[in-house]
Amino acid sequence: SLSDRLGSVFKKLKGQGKLSEKNIQDGLKEVRLALLEADVHYKVVKTLIAAIKERAVGQEVLESLTPGQQVVKIVNEELTNLMGGANEEINLGGGHPASIMLVGLQGSGKTTTAGKLAVYLRGQGRKPYLVPADVYRPAAIEQLTKIGKELSIPVYPSDTDSKPEKIAELARIKCAQEGCDTMILDTAGRLHIDDELMAELGRIKATTPPSDILLVADAMTGQDAVNMAKAFNDAMDVGGVILTKMDGDARGGAALSIRSITGKPIKFIGTGEKSNAFEAFHPNRMASRILGMGDVMTLIEKAQDAVDVKKAAELEKKLRKSQFTLEDFKDQMVQVRKMGSLEDIMSMIPGMGKSKHLKQLKGSDKEMIKIEAIINSMTLEERRNHTIINGSRRKRIAKGSGATVTDVNQLLKNYTQVMKMMKKINKGGMKKMGRMLGL
Ligand code: GDP
Ligand code: MG
Repeated sequence: SLSDRLGSVFKKLKGQGKLSEKNIQDGLKEVRLALLEADVHYKVVKTLIAAIKERAVGQEVLESLTPGQQVVKIVNEELTNLMGGANEEINLGGGHPASIMLVGLQGSGKTTTAGKLAVYLRGQGRKPYLVPADVYRPAAIEQLTKIGKELSIPVYPSDTDSKPEKIAELARIKCAQEGCDTMILDTAGRLHIDDELMAELGRIKATTPPSDILLVADAMTGQDAVNMAKAFNDAMDVGGVILTKMDGDARGGAALSIRSITGKPIKFIGTGEKSNAFEAFHPNRMASRILGMGDVMTLIEKAQDAVDVKKAAELEKKLRKSQFTLEDFKDQMVQVRKMGSLEDIMSMIPGMGKSKHLKQLKGSDKEMIKIEAIINSMTLEERRNHTIINGSRRKRIAKGSGATVTDVNQLLKNYTQVMKMMKKINKGGMKKMGRMLGL
C-alpha cells in the first residue's frame, strides 16, 4: 500500500544529515514510485513531486526534525493541498425542501450512501426524506425502503411505472408535506456511463433543481473511479464526490487524484457497510491516513516544543568525543520523555501506527522512570565514570533506587552497548542515539 511504501521511504531518509539536493532526490524518487504504484494519476504525481521538491530543497533545516520528518511534513502538506486543502460542506441551499441528488455507477454504493447521508444530516438537525428514483429494478426501491425503515427515516413510496423525473417532482411536494426539509434522491446507475443514463439524470436535474449533486464513486476501483468521476462531471457538473469503500484495501489513488482531475471536492467518505460508517472528508486527515503516519503534525509540534536544542547540541558534541556519561544518558532520556509517553510518541511515528512493537512498549515508561531513579542513586563520580561501579556499589545503588541489582546490571550493560555503538558513529549522533533508545 501507499502507506507501507512511503513508510519505508521515510525510514530510509531518517538519520541522514541534512536536507540536500541528493537525499531529497532519492527520497522523491521513492515517493514518486509509491504514488504511481498507489494508482495516483501520473499527471497528479508530476505536479505533486515538483511542488514537494521546490519546497524541500534549500529549505532551512529545523533543528529538532530529522530530514525524514521534514520531508514527511512537506509531503503531508502537499497531499492536503492536492485534495483541496479543507473540507467542503454539502450544499443544502436554494430550494425548500433542499434536494440532494446521488448519482453514480451501479454498485458504487448510492443506495447505501443515501441511508448514511440521511443519518448524517439528521445528526445535524435536518429532517431527511429518502426518495428511490431507480425505477428499473423493483429491488432497488425495496432496498431503500428497507433502509429507511431500519433507520426510522421516511421514504417516498415510489413505483416502477413512474418516470424518475416525475418521482422527483412529486416527492419534493410530499417531502414538505411530511414536515421534512432535505430530500435525498437515489438514482439509477448503469454498469458503464451511457447517454441514456445521462439524459435521464439531466431531466431530473432540470425538473427538480438539486441543492447539490453528489457523485458516488467506489474507491476500490482506483483510477477507474477517477475517470468515471471526470466523465460524470463533464456531463452533468456535479457539486462534489462521495468516495465509498475506503475501508477496503483501496490504494488511496482515487482519493488523491479526484480533486485535481475533476476540479470537484470529495465531500464525504464511506468506510463500511453500516449506516454510521460515513464521515465528512478532511484533506489533512486523509493525507495522514494515506501516509499511514498517524498524527505526524502533532509529533513534530511536540518535538519542536520539547527538545532543548542547545542541550541537544552539547550532548552531540560529547557523544562525538565519547564523553557521553551516564548523567548525559539520563538527560537524553528526560528530553525524550518530555514529548509524552513512549507509546504516544511511537504511535505518531510513520509506519508505527499499527506496529506490534507498540504493545511491547507498554512497560517502557515505567522502565524509563526506573532507569532515571537508578542513575539518580549514583554518586557524581559514578555517573561520570561507570567503570568504578563494582559489586558493592551496584548493591548500594539498587537499594537506594528501589531497583534490583539485576536492573542496575542491565542498565550498565545497555549504556556500555550504546557507548560502543556511538564510537562507530561520526555524524548525527543525537538522532541516532534517540533511535537506539527505541525512538
Ligand atoms: P448502488 O448500486 O450504487 O446503489 O450500490 P449499493 O448501495 O447497493 O452498494 C453496493 C454494495 O457496496 C453493497 O454491498 C454495500 O453494502 C456496499 N457498500 C457501499 N458502501 C460501502 C462502504 O463504504 N464500504 C463497504 N465495505 N461497502 C460498501
Ligand atoms: Mg442502488
